[in-house]
Amino acid sequence: MKIAFIGLGNMGGGMAANLAKAGHDVRAFDLAEGALERARANGCTTFATAREAVAGVDAVVSMLPNGAIVKSVYSADVLGQAPVGALLLDCSTIDVATAREVAAMAEAAGYRMVDAPVSGGIAAANAGTLTFMVGGPADSFAAAEPILAQMGKAVIHAGESGAGQAAKICNNMLLGASMVATCETFKLAERLGLDLQTFYDISSKASGQCWSMTSYCPVPGVGPTTPADNGYQGGFATALMLKDLKLAMAAAQAAGAPVPMGHRAEELYAAFDAAGNGGVDFSAIIKTL
Ligand code: NAD
Repeated sequence: MKIAFIGLGNMGGGMAANLAKAGHDVRAFDLAEGALERARANGCTTFATAREAVAGVDAVVSMLPNGAIVKSVYSADVLGQAPVGALLLDCSTIDVATAREVAAMAEAAGYRMVDAPVSGGIAAANAGTLTFMVGGPADSFAAAEPILAQMGKAVIHAGESGAGQAAKICNNMLLGASMVATCETFKLAERLGLDLQTFYDISSKASGQCWSMTSYCPVPGVGPTTPADNGYQGGFATALMLKDLKLAMAAAQAAGAPVPMGHRAEELYAAFDAAGNGGVDFSAIIKTL
């Protein structure tokens, strides 16, 4: 297929490379020259504008920083420029309202569109092991699934337009809150004189078990190897966790849903980020507890 890829950053760079590796004609665009160079090295053809990249394609994939940019790129450079009927897949993490608005604009202009945000970080983007949660009509999902499967290990239809973004921010709100809870629990266990590996062995097989503990333990030397064992470098940056928590708070407010634990996690991550920790892994918040 001829696939345009817009947004070749930390995540999009590896995803575009995997589509090229799978044999697609990948037509790449990014504002940053360094991103374009990497795309060329990975077998993509690069273009000077998004409009040129989307001309004549079967599908457009985007991996952009936020909803305002997604809306502006689609309204200015994709809709009316890509062939009518092309499949549009936005994999960025953005707010539910903008995802629905852009999908409605696309459908009105004759395109099929899905929101397909991902779970998994840069390593999963490079390895092609992302999990995609997809919002959009069933026929658009069916068309998007084989393309997404070439960049991921799981592709799940979450529901109508915006449902992918809704699933993503609900998941990450739970992750943020459960990470803070895991961190404070280990600190309490320490204060109470427990050996932390012993506590891990107990709690990971008891009712407190959760992903933040058993797959992403924030305590160095306890559980599997995680960013905690690497000075909290790599992994999932605090700034990105805060971004997702803010999206969750906005969605909760719009929906009138009380989310007191998510709200507290957002406050704690906002303070941690403001103290200059935006670039470190989000499990490093244990240092503040
Ligand atoms: P990034 O900042 O590394 O990449 C974004 C890219 O978009 C940059 O290369 C930038 O130059 C480009 N860009 C910005 N505006 C553009 C425009 N108008 N036209 C073309 N290109 C433009 O960010 P990232 O880490 O790759 O994240 C991308 C998306 O994936 C975000 O929505 C993020 O929330 C989400 N996400 C990231 C991770 C992660 O671990 N990094 C994990 C899951 C989801």
